[in-house]
Amino acid sequence: KLVVLGSVNADHVLQVPSFPRPGETLHGRNYQVIPGGKGANQAVAAARLNADIGFIACVGDDAFGMLMHDNFVKDGIDVRGVKTEAGTPTGIAMIQVSDCGENSICLSAEANNKLTDQAIESDLDTIRQAEYLLMQLETPMCGIEKAAKVAKLANTTVILNPAPARELSDKLLACVDVITPNETEAEVLTGVTVTDNQSAQQAADILHGKGIKTVMITLGAKGVWLSQNGSGDIISGFRVEATDTTAAGDTFNGALVTGLLEDLALESAIKFAHAAAAISVTRFGAQTSIPTREEVDLFLAQ
Ligand code: ADP
Repeated sequence: KLVVLGSVNADHVLQVPSFPRPGETLHGRNYQVIPGGKGANQAVAAARLNADIGFIACVGDDAFGMLMHDNFVKDGIDVRGVKTEAGTPTGIAMIQVSDCGENSICLSAEANNKLTDQAIESDLDTIRQAEYLLMQLETPMCGIEKAAKVAKLANTTVILNPAPARELSDKLLACVDVITPNETEAEVLTGVTVTDNQSAQQAADILHGKGIKTVMITLGAKGVWLSQNGSGDIISGFRVEATDTTAAGDTFNGALVTGLLEDLALESAIKFAHAAAAISVTRFGAQTSIPTREEVDLFLAQ
């Protein structure tokens, strides 16, 4: 079994001609509320790809929290670890997507802030019994560190997607088995600007030095830099027409762990994850863009 611990957000998305300047009012269009949040996206990706997955998260006691909860159940997620926090809104992201494809995002953690070390006390056995624990950085560090420590002691493999970018304690990194930063996150963690194979390996070596066995630096359309035991290589992705890369990294992580749970070799699990993420970038939104298992299998068979 896989356990995902992380955030749940309602993405309020508006298409804008350009970003409004201070004091300016503009007319946007195509307003949509799309289920998002890195934790939820990764949990949904794993579930749609048929992983046996439990989700640990906090939603608010508002309409969106209830809707998200129902959607998780529909996607086949074990929601016993999804808590409802009274008197708190569900996390939100206000997202503006400009006509030239750039986005501008403002987050408010809201209920996600309640996922502390104390709040996950009742989930520790679930973490101990799981084969894999997958986490990101949109919920309080005390909860993430507690979960990682418990997992490490129980031989549950810890996969950390260190997003959004921030520095991390050596104590946390020492509990991580697999880390999956993008180029920005790798730079924040290591101080190395990833521009080519050599710098990618340099960043990976610093993370190996912190005790992490497997480092995968995701490189967008180029694929990932995979490093183990101090030597690395590019595992290329798939070429597709990109419409919206929101949740590409999340789909990649959810799919990667699904592959590992099925005992695929690391490189095959990465190929599987590349296929799922490639499909997601051809579609709009976060959870609206995540493919099903049938779609990924069909894509890989082509
Ligand atoms: P993040 O979204 O976290 O910044 P990346 O942009 O590195 O992460 O993308 C994560 C993964 O998503 C890549 O390793 C790749 O599999 C896939 N991906 C991202 N962008 C593209 C793209 N334009 N074409 C094909 N695959 C992509």
